[in-house]
Amino acid sequence: MIGIIAAMNVEMEALRAHIENPVSETVSGVTFVRGRIGNHEVVTAVCGIGKVFAALCAQTMILRYAPEKVINTGVAGSLSSLLNIGSIAVSSCVVQHDMDTSPLGDPLGLISGINKVELPADKLLCTDLAACAGELGIHTASGPIASGDQFVASAERKTFITDTFGAIACEMEGAAVGQVCYVNSVPFCILRAISDSADGSSHMDYPTFVKMAAEQSVKLMLRYLSK
Ligand code: SAH
Repeated sequence: MIGIIAAMNVEMEALRAHIENPVSETVSGVTFVRGRIGNHEVVTAVCGIGKVFAALCAQTMILRYAPEKVINTGVAGSLSSLLNIGSIAVSSCVVQHDMDTSPLGDPLGLISGINKVELPADKLLCTDLAACAGELGIHTASGPIASGDQFVASAERKTFITDTFGAIACEMEGAAVGQVCYVNSVPFCILRAISDSADGSSHMDYPTFVKMAAEQSVKLMLRYLSK
């Protein structure tokens, strides 16, 4: 079974429309819908915005459905000139740009306990997803994806995240899904279509392009699940 998590309905509803014989269950306010899409059993969830909801959802999904891998799909702000609106960022790893115990001498982004800044995404899964994008003619770039409990909408914050973490896209859930998967030894990939440029125009671009970007990520998921 493949676990698929999106933060928002707009990122999930078109995918869920393809589930054969859907079965729903709501746990801690998150509705999990399982069934078949293409050639795979899937369990899907809309987790809500931010790292806490994303972690709650990923942990519950793993405990109740034991997915063999988890994909977090949706939209993100671009941090790279290689990624325009509608292109897709594929994670090499995830980082939390708002995790900061640096006054104690720790590196920025360090997750104490695990003692890592970057948590690696599953290479094979991410490569397969990028290959599907290629088949569809969707442009992708691979690199670190940065999450934080902030909608990034300024050149300053964008520069901080790229300079500190070398990230190519920013969003608000992926690294929480990644951390939960990491501690549970579940392979994961974060797949994000670009809805805005995480700069001073984001507040206008995001509402304009979120639906179109979400459609791109759904298109890619359907291609992957058809294999
Ligand atoms: N109140 C709004 C909040 C949306 S937040 C709502 O409920 O719809 C934006 C979402 O898109 C988050 O899930 C985040 O992962 C992603 N996202 C897109 N562009 C982003 C950016 N520039 N910075 C951070 N997250 C972004």
